[in-house]
Amino acid sequence: MPTESTGLDLAYDETTAPFFEGAARGDLVLQRCRSCEKWMWPVKYRCIHCFAAGVEWRPASGRATLYSLSVVRQQYPGFPSAYVIATVETDEGVRFNTSLVGADVENAAIGSALVAEFDADEQPFTVPRFRRIS
Ligand SMILES: [Zn+2]
Repeated sequence: MPTESTGLDLAYDETTAPFFEGAARGDLVLQRCRSCEKWMWPVKYRCIHCFAAGVEWRPASGRATLYSLSVVRQQYPGFPSAYVIATVETDEGVRFNTSLVGADVENAAIGSALVAEFDADEQPFTVPRFRRIS
C-alpha cells in the first residue's frame, strides 16, 4: 500500500483503500450511510450525519460542480502550469479537494459542470481529477 501523499485531503490507508481502488478501476467511489442513505466525506467509520455504524462504499455518478478553485502558476516539477486546485461538490452532495485537468483549466468558473477523470498510469496511485464539461 502506498504511503506517499495523495495530493487530496485524504491519506491512503485501510479505511480509505476502497476510494483509491475505485479510482484505479476508473470509478468514483464514495461512502454512503445504510441507515440515513446520505453520502459522506471525509471518510469515516461512522456516518457523519446520523452516527450509524453501517457505512458502505458505493459507486458515485462521477459528476460534480466546481465549488472553488485556486490557480497555481508557479512551475513545479511534475506539475502542469497552470495547475488548478479545486474543491468540487459531487452530484451526491459531498465536497472534496482535487485538481482540474484538461485544456484551458485556468479559465474554469465556479459552478462549472465537471466529470471525474482517471489516469491509470498516475503514480504512486490514481486519484480522481475533474474535467469541465460545460
Ligand atoms: Zn447516516
